[in-house]
Amino acid sequence: MKYELISDWQTELARSITDLSELLSRLQLSSDELPQLDTGKSHFSLRVTESYLQRIQPENPQDPLLLQILPTQQENLILPGYSQDPVGDLDASNIPGIIHKYTGRVLIIATGACGIHCRYCFRRHYPYQEFQFTPSRWSAMLDYIASRETVHEVILSGGDPFSLSDQRLFRILDDLDGLPNIKRVRFHTRMPVILPARVTPELVTYLAESRIQFVVVIHSNHAQELNDEVGKVLKVMSSADITLLNQSVLLKGINDDVSSLIHLSEQLIKYSVLPYYLHQLDPVQGAHHFQVEDKRAKELIKKLSSSLSGYLVPRLVKEIATKPAKVLLK
Ligand SMILES: *Cc1c(COP(=O)(O)O)cnc(C)c1O
Ligand code: SF4
Repeated sequence: MKYELISDWQTELARSITDLSELLSRLQLSSDELPQLDTGKSHFSLRVTESYLQRIQPENPQDPLLLQILPTQQENLILPGYSQDPVGDLDASNIPGIIHKYTGRVLIIATGACGIHCRYCFRRHYPYQEFQFTPSRWSAMLDYIASRETVHEVILSGGDPFSLSDQRLFRILDDLDGLPNIKRVRFHTRMPVILPARVTPELVTYLAESRIQFVVVIHSNHAQELNDEVGKVLKVMSSADITLLNQSVLLKGINDDVSSLIHLSEQLIKYSVLPYYLHQLDPVQGAHHFQVEDKRAKELIKKLSSSLSGYLVPRLVKEIATKPAKVLLK
């Protein structure tokens, strides 16, 4: 059987793989080879796009892309120190849908939808249903942003803001364009990586022509995610004067070795993306098995610094709920 990529991104998104047995058969893996597999119904279901699936190496139970999406029984362990809201998002929600923790920028939960379910996600328990993005809430959010003159940047997050249709996204951006205090909009999205077809010519044209300056932070954790198809849309965005940054999560067994991190930085810069942050995992319930100790994380960064140009070394950070910025680990 031949699997074609679908050029219409919304169709491809709707056809994401959510069935575990389909995933295993596509990758020619049996459950015997994956003893930790969770075959039960999780509230955080399996989800992966066709495009991403095609980058997973078949017959390899340790593939670093597979490990990011495969539900395992370790996720069901409840451990002390691992909570449902590890970074205090809910406390920092001054009004529903806005998280205002840091000076100068506010974060908006624009949608709860994602094209992929990353097992390590720190918002895997976020009560998106309680914070539906309704017109009246949006108008309250706009008032909030408009009345804070020191806020110059709006961060669209989620979920994945690029899972919104162009039409809905452009409405949000048009409204932000109407606020004179807003100079920049930053997207935190995994779409260019997991569903490159999402970066439509209409989207790029909109971003290129706006008064607002745009920054797109792609969330790639491994060089194997960045194939030529992804590279092509990244190049299109950078030639449209969109600033491209990458943020990764340090993940045990996936990218917690010097060579993986070097390859990732090299692959990013090939496509004009600068490494920005390497995040220590937020202690979210269900993801403890991805945690790398701080001591080891710092050693990795030291080794990276001794082999790469300075601008290719991401900042190792940790989020601590009460601090005024992400905390740099050195
Ligand atoms: C991480 C984060 C930001 C962005 O922080 P930068 O250091 O500017 O990248 C903004 N708001 C919230 C709530 C965040 O969690
Ligand atoms: S919010 Fe980001 S990390 Fe979480 S599941 Fe969606 S794409 Fe993955």
